Amino acid sequence: MERVLITGAAGFLGSHLCDRFIKEGFQVEAMDNLITGDLKNIAHLREHPHFTFHQHDVTEYIDLPGELDHILHFASPASPIDYLKIPIQTLKVGSLGVHNCLGLAKHKGARVTIASTSEIYGDPEVHPQHEEYFGHVNTIGPRGVYDEAKRFQESITMAYHRYHGVETRIVRIFNTYGPRMRLNDGRVLPAFIGQALRGEDLTVFGDGSQTRSFCYVDDLIEGIYRLHFSDETRPVNVGNPDEITIGDFAEEIMALTGTDQKVVYRDLPENDPKQRRPDIGRAMEVLDWTPKVGRAEGLKRTYAYFKTLSTEELNKSEHKDFEAFKKN
Ligand code: UDP
Repeated sequence: MERVLITGAAGFLGSHLCDRFIKEGFQVEAMDNLITGDLKNIAHLREHPHFTFHQHDVTEYIDLPGELDHILHFASPASPIDYLKIPIQTLKVGSLGVHNCLGLAKHKGARVTIASTSEIYGDPEVHPQHEEYFGHVNTIGPRGVYDEAKRFQESITMAYHRYHGVETRIVRIFNTYGPRMRLNDGRVLPAFIGQALRGEDLTVFGDGSQTRSFCYVDDLIEGIYRLHFSDETRPVNVGNPDEITIGDFAEEIMALTGTDQKVVYRDLPENDPKQRRPDIGRAMEVLDWTPKVGRAEGLKRTYAYFKTLSTEELNKSEHKDFEAFKKN
């Protein structure tokens, strides 16, 4: 039986990766320091004979005795509110954390997939974004801690590949949504759905003309799985190219939830990208992958999940804190 280490295993994407690798018959070593992850996301796996949870901060030396075949490094805060609250941890997990994962991969002869991001393109001047675009990032802006950590992460990953011959894969993940997103993580979809469920107005930042392209989590996991087992060592964009303005997205959420609240406008956060859409030509060609779940269906499934959350969870709104943060 092959053994896989998944870091960030109690997070949104990490927990879905755990499900996939368990389903495929792997021994899963799930690691998380629970700084933004939640054990609830992997509670259903805790008793599984092929699943072990390790509460550990991957910025510290990773001690995992025995053979190891695969590593997926998905530990990282991943929403703008997190970067503002825990900027140093964000930088550390993308630098010290990935260094530990690569060192472990080298030592064990494991293949490693690194979670990179569309944020490495920054506020892009090329549209849609293909993998050859170098990006447009403000190193010292509020998002810089995430963007630069992820850019460093790609560099060190390629260095371990070229210098040490480690089998590496780099996935550049675009906006993704689905069950197990943190309702209060400040990102647009949980923010809007949370607001609708609490009977609050929907807060659109800026004039709502900025665009994003949202990928349903099952499609993303399929793309990552295919990439990990492919021979492609260059970065690969994985996302859904179906682009929408945030203003129109708010309308879609209002229709989905049937809320009778209205849209209110707030200041646009600093360095908020104006447009974002993946060019997925490389993923189509080398992974034979395209997203299958349209936004209407994906949103329906995601809304069904959020409706199962307790009132207590619903009312815990870090989103309001974000407004306060932005003012400081
Ligand atoms: N956004 C918004 N209202 C919210 C939260 C986010 O209008 O309550 C906007 C945000 O300014 C950005 C887009 O939605 O333009 C996507 O934000 P998110 O934080 O989900 O992810 P990003 O793609 O910016 O990393």
